[in-house]
Amino acid sequence: MDIKKYELEYINCPLCGSNQLEIYLSNVKEIYVGLDEYFDLNKCIKCGHIFTNPRPTLSTIEYFYPNEMDYYLPKDVYELSTFKQNILNNILNEVKNYSLDVTFSLPPLVSKILFYYFNYKISYDKKIPNYVNNGKLLEIGCSWGSYLLQMQKLGWDVYGVEMNTKASEYAKKILNSDNIMNNKIENIDFKSTLFDVIVLNMVLEHIYDPIKLLNIIKSILKPNGIIIINIPNIDSIEFKIFKDKSYFVQVPQHVHHFNYMTINKLLEKTGFNMISAYYNNSATDIYKSCKKNNNNFKVCKCIDNRFCSFLIKYTMKILGQIKKTSRMVIYASRNTLK
Ligand SMILES: [Zn+2]
Repeated sequence: MDIKKYELEYINCPLCGSNQLEIYLSNVKEIYVGLDEYFDLNKCIKCGHIFTNPRPTLSTIEYFYPNEMDYYLPKDVYELSTFKQNILNNILNEVKNYSLDVTFSLPPLVSKILFYYFNYKISYDKKIPNYVNNGKLLEIGCSWGSYLLQMQKLGWDVYGVEMNTKASEYAKKILNSDNIMNNKIENIDFKSTLFDVIVLNMVLEHIYDPIKLLNIIKSILKPNGIIIINIPNIDSIEFKIFKDKSYFVQVPQHVHHFNYMTINKLLEKTGFNMISAYYNNSATDIYKSCKKNNNNFKVCKCIDNRFCSFLIKYTMKILGQIKKTSRMVIYASRNTLK
């Protein structure tokens, strides 16, 4: 007899509670671990939210998170050259209130102009918030600590929460810090520590109750604090091309499939205001989807052609500007009225 390694549960819309649902996509194969398991995505007729339904129960989802998954594995940290780091430090000092060491100073106006050009890279790729003196930054789901390591170097007092024991131990070691908690966020008492910045980096789409999480975040965020949320965007060109074969859909690990509208609804519902949204402008998820599907799409043939891949690269830059690529970074603040 075939013994199921997990159990399923059918749910109402996790955003608005409605039971008026329609099938959005059927039989999406689990591709991240490579198991022969299939899941459906539902769309809520009332609020438009797209989510995995049925989904594995919270107590059995672990089956889809084996320890060796690369979510948790340390990767090389990309270090900037001394020259580029100096330019970045100048920009951050001038525009984002940092006081970083520089070996050469740029005129303030030059830093401001460079920021205008590199704002996207600083806000999307690096996710660098405005500096706050003695500021505390918490990353929920910090994995092995690569983002926290960058932020620590920029002067932040960093804290992390990570459920995976191996990853959290690694983070503790490289950050040389006891502020990495190997526990669920709801079980942690931060002893009235309030944070200036709280970051969710490719985490929210995995969370069973995102309303509860954002309410917890609100309770430990300073009134003028901000949150930074990096999530996949189902309303993207990658999804239009690859549909159920999209690399970034990743069921059942991703229980939510947000777009600009639904992340905005979630933020409003939990008392946050979106400040800005940045979209990736690289073809990485197209390459990954091609690889996972043995290049069985027309666009994959194009990637091998130099001219064609050049076209894709620049098309992605334009699509990123009009919110149509597969990953978004949202900055939001507390809505003081709520
Ligand atoms: Zn709904």
